[in-house]
Amino acid sequence: MVVEVRKKDIRALTKDQLRDFFVVQGDKAFRGNQVYEWLWQKSAHSFDVMTNISKEMRARLQDHFVINHIKVDQMQRSTDGTVKNAVKLHDDLIVESVLIPTETRTTACVSSQVGCSLDCRFCATARLKRMRNLNPDEIYDQVVAIDNQSRLYFQRPLSNIVFMGMGEPLMNYKNVLKAIDKITSPEGLGMSPKRITVSTSGVPRMIKKMADESVKFQLAVSLHSAIDEIRTSIMPFNSTFPLNDLRNALEYWYAKTRNRITYEYVVWKGINDTQADVDALVKFCRFAPSKVNLIEYNPIDDGEFQQASDIALQMYRNTLQDNGITVTVRRSRGKDIDAACGQLANKS
Ligand code: SAH
Repeated sequence: MVVEVRKKDIRALTKDQLRDFFVVQGDKAFRGNQVYEWLWQKSAHSFDVMTNISKEMRARLQDHFVINHIKVDQMQRSTDGTVKNAVKLHDDLIVESVLIPTETRTTACVSSQVGCSLDCRFCATARLKRMRNLNPDEIYDQVVAIDNQSRLYFQRPLSNIVFMGMGEPLMNYKNVLKAIDKITSPEGLGMSPKRITVSTSGVPRMIKKMADESVKFQLAVSLHSAIDEIRTSIMPFNSTFPLNDLRNALEYWYAKTRNRITYEYVVWKGINDTQADVDALVKFCRFAPSKVNLIEYNPIDDGEFQQASDIALQMYRNTLQDNGITVTVRRSRGKDIDAACGQLANKS
């Protein structure tokens, strides 16, 4: 009887584990470092390219391991330059990631889960149930793919990363952190953590954990309302993690990291477009230095949610500014290819 032995994903191994593998095979430990460099810094897709490793050892690696590389299955380009990738994983599941170019920067918007654990009513991704978490290498590969596209189409490397694709990064915390470690390590992409933003719907326990671990990246919170009743009606998980707990966690975050918090906020007609809504937001922003990013609503086809009027937006902007809170307005990018915030839903 032939028993098929399931091969291990080699990129789940630490550098020390790779070194140990070579020692156990009767080779030198430093070969492990060489393979590690091939896997991460050089993003090798196969063992054959690892030419500084003997043929025999390459065959042995092949016997024990696989390299589960992602594949860009489909690429769409928007009229505004935005690129959306449908990324196929080793088990044929698909996630999406987006390259967003501006005059001076290229930002990668990456996914952290297949589908999403949460249930925000205005978000297309929430309609896909969460299938699984992404592994660190699957997150890392999305970044590498977009870095390559940035060099190819815009003649410059990737400059920023936002975890604003599919999924809730803090519900896949361990893997997101491992991916960021690789992205920021000189043995990976060597990017500055200051150029990475993790966006969360707000999981208080995990925000505190991040603060305790002194992470160096930026934090964004998708707030959308600072009034519990309203927030629960549009983001039902808010009943499990109410605003008071979120606020405590954010205060803790600021006390530990001294890092300003960005709130992402969409203003919808008839939902959160009154003076009382913006007043609650101003009060919420007082707990820690913060900035509000007003995001344009990207309709997700059933018409239940509608972008608020310009007058309401102006009221938000004025009230926030009058209270000394920085406010920016984010125009949507890539709408024509369903690549904008909240539109990632594996449509194609
Ligand atoms: N789960 C994380 C990461 C997703 S980020 C989070 O919630 O932060 C995606 C961002 O787009 C979030 O700020 C989300 O609230 C926002 N968003 C979701 N649907 C949207 C839509 N239809 N239009 C505009 N923004 C949307």
